Amino acid sequence: MVCRRAATRAAARLAQQGVLPCHGRHLPAAAGAHQRPAFARVRPPAFLVRPRKADSGGACAVRTAGVSARTVVVGGGLAGITAALRCADAGLDVTLLEAKGHLGGLTHSFRRGELDVDNGQHVFLRCCTSYLDLLDRLRVTGKVHLQPKLAIQVRSPRQPRPVWLRRNGLPAPLHLADSVLKYRPLPLGDRLKFATAALALRGVDPAAPATDAQSFGDWLGRHGQSEQAITKLWDLVGIATLNAPATAASLSLAATVFQLGLLTDAAAADIGWSEVPLRELHGEPAKARLTEAGAQVLLGTKVTELSSVDGGWRVVAGDSVVLADQVVLAVPPDVAHRLLPPGAVDLPAGWARELGSSPIVNVHVVFDRTVLTEPFFAAVDSPVQWVFDRTRQSGVDSGQYVAVSLSAADDLIDVPVREIRERILPALRQVLPRSEGVEVRDFFVTRERHATFRPSPGTAGLRPQAVTAAEGLVLAGAWTATGWPATMEGAVRSGDAAAAALLDARPDRTRFLSRRKDS
Ligand SMILES: Cc1cc2nc3c(=O)[nH]c(=O)nc-3n(C[C@H](O)[C@H](O)[C@H](O)COP(=O)(O)OP(=O)(O)OC[C@H]3O[C@@H](n4cnc5c(N)ncnc54)[C@H](O)[C@@H]3O)c2cc1C
Repeated sequence: MVCRRAATRAAARLAQQGVLPCHGRHLPAAAGAHQRPAFARVRPPAFLVRPRKADSGGACAVRTAGVSARTVVVGGGLAGITAALRCADAGLDVTLLEAKGHLGGLTHSFRRGELDVDNGQHVFLRCCTSYLDLLDRLRVTGKVHLQPKLAIQVRSPRQPRPVWLRRNGLPAPLHLADSVLKYRPLPLGDRLKFATAALALRGVDPAAPATDAQSFGDWLGRHGQSEQAITKLWDLVGIATLNAPATAASLSLAATVFQLGLLTDAAAADIGWSEVPLRELHGEPAKARLTEAGAQVLLGTKVTELSSVDGGWRVVAGDSVVLADQVVLAVPPDVAHRLLPPGAVDLPAGWARELGSSPIVNVHVVFDRTVLTEPFFAAVDSPVQWVFDRTRQSGVDSGQYVAVSLSAADDLIDVPVREIRERILPALRQVLPRSEGVEVRDFFVTRERHATFRPSPGTAGLRPQAVTAAEGLVLAGAWTATGWPATMEGAVRSGDAAAAALLDARPDRTRFLSRRKDS
């Protein structure tokens, strides 16, 4: 009882102050009423967080009578941000708990001296409609550049001049026909055979389990694609989007990427990228928009336990306990595997380990003068894959900063920087002849060991749906069953699916939605 009174008093105090204990250093100031959209409720914080020491078995929970379901979102990557915004916009009472000191998850930036550095170059395609919707909701659409027409410059150390993969004015799949026919890195025979496989790939059903069981590389081989056609053309796009070479990728995931991106709508694969550090595109605006929408964002709050209690959920984060009516778990697969209650997902034992992860390495080079006039290019016949001009985003005011993005980087993830420099810098200079003899002012490497799940054949059976067997608990994350490979689009779609599952399950959903419409 002492505990209950203490908790109640603490809760009342906190409600007045708009802060929660144990998190003072990370907490955003409570949103002022003037910041809230008309449909947001003005009332005390619905989540009462208190020191776990004072917890005597859930009896200390203080529920606010007569208010909407309290929704906790665990994980503040793009999936969690999307789910939290959707729920807050629909009028739910949302608290987002993020382990790190910033939102954005795998899309983040840091300072290195005068440089703003992204943890890894990110691009999106015009067909990433859910991601573009999120950018719109974050009010940052003006901070990305989307090519008006797909144009990829491809360089090879064996070719004196670059070639271009450009879309023409024809409908898909003819929009790339002339580019492929002129694609000099491949002999003419391979260029001609490309169409046969591209047309056959249009007919593949990505949702069929038999499709997922096959390797994309084997399928391409059976459809007349030579080894060099696979590595110099199919993998050019495939490695970057799937984070695996065709030989190691599920045919389902590859078919999804190529059907949506290249084979159905001519404009779908126009490439977009951020013109600001990722932090300014995702994490910071997300925190601001969530706060405006009445959600609470608790950074530096790592959830360590999740259990069902009394028809709701008890979420433990270190010394604090949060009681919620419903939870969106938007964390990486290994963390979800640890936190999910037994029986919540119908997956084989050890599914998270089996799903695995695939690394991405970025090599960052600051030259003391301009060496690249294109915003990016791709390379073949080289360990270099894709190279991006990062000068503008980084704030460098002289020279040029380029990032070499290396997907499926199993062979580099544990290699020391000095050795990476020995391997990659000469290869970069070969495909960037203007950099020959130009002084390197800075050279460093960023590594993301768990950049994506490993998109191997058989992966579909290891990716859970948003809805779990546990009432009020849903999953989100680029690794869940979106049908997409692990991408920003996949993450946002998963967040949408999780929020929709919660909102569909709510009898008073229409009330919230109509309130929003009226406002
Ligand atoms: C280097 C790199 C390059 C990439 N390039 C591209 C690209 O060009 N295009 C593209 O579309 N995609 C790209 N991706 C993939 C894309 O970034 C991810 O698919 C997407 O960001 C995943 O979002 P998510 O929300 O599902 O997961 P995450 O971003 O992993 O978010 C999970 C969040 O949960 C938090 N968390 C973990 N444990 C806990 C806990 N116990 N309690 C509370 N919070 C916790 C984490 O800190 C994290 O913020 C790239 C990824 C990397 C790493």
